[in-house]
Amino acid sequence: MEILRGFKDILPQDIKKWQRLEKIARETLESFGYKEIRTPILEKTSLFARGVGETTDIVEKEMYTFLDKSGESVTLRPEGTAGTVRAFIDNHLENYPFKKYYYIGPMFRYERPQKGRLRQFHQIGIEVFGIDNPAVDAEVVLVDKIMLDRLNISDLRIEINNIGCPNCRPEYSKKLKEYFQTHREELCDDCKRRLDRNPLRILDCKNKTCSRIAKNAPKITEFVCDNCKTHYEKVKENLVALGIDFQENPHLVRGLDYYTKFVFEIITDKLGSQGTVSAGGRYDNLVEQLGGKPTSGIGFASGCERLIELMDYDEDQNIDYYFACLDDYTTCMKLAKGLADSLKRSVYVEYESRSLKSMMKKADKMNASYVVIYGENEKEKGIVIVKDMKRSTQEEIEIEKFLENEVARWQ
Ligand code: ATP
Ligand code: MG
Repeated sequence: MEILRGFKDILPQDIKKWQRLEKIARETLESFGYKEIRTPILEKTSLFARGVGETTDIVEKEMYTFLDKSGESVTLRPEGTAGTVRAFIDNHLENYPFKKYYYIGPMFRYERPQKGRLRQFHQIGIEVFGIDNPAVDAEVVLVDKIMLDRLNISDLRIEINNIGCPNCRPEYSKKLKEYFQTHREELCDDCKRRLDRNPLRILDCKNKTCSRIAKNAPKITEFVCDNCKTHYEKVKENLVALGIDFQENPHLVRGLDYYTKFVFEIITDKLGSQGTVSAGGRYDNLVEQLGGKPTSGIGFASGCERLIELMDYDEDQNIDYYFACLDDYTTCMKLAKGLADSLKRSVYVEYESRSLKSMMKKADKMNASYVVIYGENEKEKGIVIVKDMKRSTQEEIEIEKFLENEVARWQ
């Protein structure tokens, strides 16, 4: 049986890295007052159609959508913001004092699988609701940056842009359309379609010709309204005050329609064309668009697979005690229970009968600190043999005194 294309098992030998990533993410986000939220993986299709945007790549061609048994159209979440906004509205979180949330979990997009691009991938993301103050935009970037620093991921650059709002963007869209219209024949098929529906998206196209043409396209900076401009300038001031280096990229647009004003990406050159590790921005109209009261929002999402790729962390697997059980499994199990339960040590009880030699080999592969040997001889004498694998020493311990002895060992 084969796994689905674009899906991946995360194996026990790699799990430590994932656990470390999640631990550092949680610690960082919680230290800034962000609270975890867990929303369903499956939502009504209309949530994403309305939330992410009908003309986005995600909604047009990447969603895992199907009818459930009642005939309702449902979709595996392609991103985390829409679901968080829905939960915010549904659960009246406007009455809950904490307005800063984070999530960690799988997302699904039917994309062409390649390095750093999967069909099931994972994101760590944050969302902040109801705060218009541009200082919080800078906080969001700061929190992202600190998380990446704590993961020891370096050589990153932060790109930012102002993408305006529904007041000023239509004018810019119009100008872009006029510009790209004059190059229509050279554009890729996707962009020909985008030209009519959402010309801004052409700026984001990865096709070489399209991005060459996009280089000379009008810049949004010339079109943004005063309100967007002031907001963006304040964000920049705050970033400078926090000592965060950034570059302005007037062509930075995001793949989702809901963004307004401030957007950013954190990018590495180490992952080839899949170099964006985090992306985010403000979405001041999304809550209202999804049926809530007008409430501003801002957040980011980081791709876990790309972070994992950049983390240089290699911890060997290990175990505190390997029980080389040769005969009386019940007694071994009882001894192991004492260690795991009272002493909170990790134990691995061997239930497959094999030779002592092969068990010692296995204990070595598992990086066991101690091996407890209990066979017929030991049983007769009422003892166990405890082998210290690092020191290559061993001692006989009376079975009655075993737990007591081990408690003392770890003090
Ligand atoms: P891209 O331009 O790479 O397609 P995007 O604009 O679709 O990215 P977002 O939807 O903003 O990305 O997602 C935020 C982050 O999630 C990305 O920067 C990336 O790290 C990660 N990501 C997005 N799609 C995938 C995927 N298919 N596989 C792995 N990681 C992904
Ligand atoms: Mg994408």
